[in-house]
Amino acid sequence: MSGNFFEAKVLTVHHWTDRLFSFTTTRDTSFRYQSGQFCMIGLNVEGKPLMRAYSMVSPHYEENLEFLSIKVPDGPLTSRLQNIQPGDFILVGRKASGTLLTQNLLPGRHLYLLGTGTGLAPFMSIIQDPEVYEQYEKVILVHGCREVKELAYQDKITRELPENEWFGDVVREKLIYYPTVTREAFKNQGRITDLIQTSRLFNDIGLPPMDIEADRFMLCGSPEMLKETQAILAGKGLKEGNMSHQGHYVIERAFVEK
Ligand SMILES: Cc1cc2nc3c(=O)[nH]c(=O)nc-3n(C[C@H](O)[C@H](O)[C@H](O)COP(=O)(O)OP(=O)(O)OC[C@H]3O[C@@H](n4cnc5c(N)ncnc54)[C@H](O)[C@@H]3O)c2cc1C
Repeated sequence: MSGNFFEAKVLTVHHWTDRLFSFTTTRDTSFRYQSGQFCMIGLNVEGKPLMRAYSMVSPHYEENLEFLSIKVPDGPLTSRLQNIQPGDFILVGRKASGTLLTQNLLPGRHLYLLGTGTGLAPFMSIIQDPEVYEQYEKVILVHGCREVKELAYQDKITRELPENEWFGDVVREKLIYYPTVTREAFKNQGRITDLIQTSRLFNDIGLPPMDIEADRFMLCGSPEMLKETQAILAGKGLKEGNMSHQGHYVIERAFVEK
């Protein structure tokens, strides 16, 4: 096998819906990444690696890896990957990359993590990273989906993390979780872009309206969500950050439209 990949053994698989599942695997001890990054994962298909980009759900210090995945019915990888069982092996690329890093952001007080669908994945590792909480007064995780059942990891976010022995106290003090759905009744409803533009998000969580001095954003969603949200942020004078320049916000695509 190519030195670019290692074989990871599937440990657990959880199907959230007929379009969404997550799984954990073993981790090669030499595989390093930062919270918020992604790598290539895949399967050997007809003797060749079939790889796709995936964000790590698991925080960088965790012994095992965790991923959250869409099931695209005729998708080359996910039509197969959705059938994995504990004991199977997947391929994991050794190189992690991505722009959703606090080092790419100018210092600020509030870190807004705006994700739709599987765009939640990189933010799961970020909200489990104690170093992130050291840099901000509040960390706000906004997850937008169509239906309530697609709001993966609700229990982990609202019950497990606040009880975490190591950093549960900072989670209780700093993490604000704002799940929202667009297609059914729920405590929070509407698209993330509308919630920002109407200031409903800020009112609901009890924080001031968007402020260029205090607020920093990470975006991960569909190409359309990114374009619309970016336009709102740019309209307020916020500048995009990347690996060479710090900015007020950073973006990562949750997937590429083909
Ligand atoms: C930087 C980056 C990080 C990514 N992280 C993840 C991740 O953590 N989890 C994940 O499931 N996917 C993620 N993706 C998408 C992933 O790489 C694959 O596209 C996905 O696994 C489907 O693979 P496929 O071969 O079955 O279908 P593909 O041929 O890759 O995709 C077919 C079509 O399915 C749709 N699609 C693909 N992925 C998604 C998705 N996640 N949500 C909604 N629609 C989608 C698109 O319309 C796409 O054109 C990421 C993509 C990028 C670029």
